[in-house]
Amino acid sequence: MNRIAFLGPPGAGKGTQAAILATELGVPHLATGDLLRTAVAARSPLGLEAEKFMRAGELVPDGLVVDIVADRLGGDHGRSGFLLDGFPRTLAQGVSLDRIAPLDHVVAFEIPEGTLLERLTERRQCPKCGTVYNLKTVPPRVSGRCDRDGTELVSRNDDRPDAVRTRFRAYHEQTQPLVEFYQKRGILRRIDAVGDTATVAARVRAAVVD
Ligand SMILES: [Zn+2]
Repeated sequence: MNRIAFLGPPGAGKGTQAAILATELGVPHLATGDLLRTAVAARSPLGLEAEKFMRAGELVPDGLVVDIVADRLGGDHGRSGFLLDGFPRTLAQGVSLDRIAPLDHVVAFEIPEGTLLERLTERRQCPKCGTVYNLKTVPPRVSGRCDRDGTELVSRNDDRPDAVRTRFRAYHEQTQPLVEFYQKRGILRRIDAVGDTATVAARVRAAVVD
């Protein structure tokens, strides 16, 4: 069965890899952020509840996220397989998910803090049109200026080194118990998330083969 979840710190490339693998396996790619936005847009009771927290700039509580995911997994989706990206994030979420739809594979994306810092601190964004650049891998044609509209590029506040470090450490603290939980069940595979997209995709594929 292809009931899969990806774990990894923000910036590790989970979203890109999830899109690739979900297409290959023909299963829905369920990103928590999208699920929440969809529930809110649909004005479902759960969505309306989640919206209160999102409006206030707060994290949506574990129980509510689990309910929204369960709602989406209801029916055929849970049976034919799925790829969760950004969920579960805590042990409590993992335990709840186990009751609804036990996972077959969990892939933990591993990336050194220094590499992540390098990756994110090289990132620049155009405040006008939103185009994202990377000073090393996708640089603008004119230094510091957007290719499309010439606007001066900025780094996002949450890509600054302090913010990246804080997020990285919070991720590990929060996720460690979850990693151990899946390790005990024998379904956790760690993969090296450093490398180009195709190389990492091959590692991910190898990790989810029965
Ligand atoms: Zn621009």
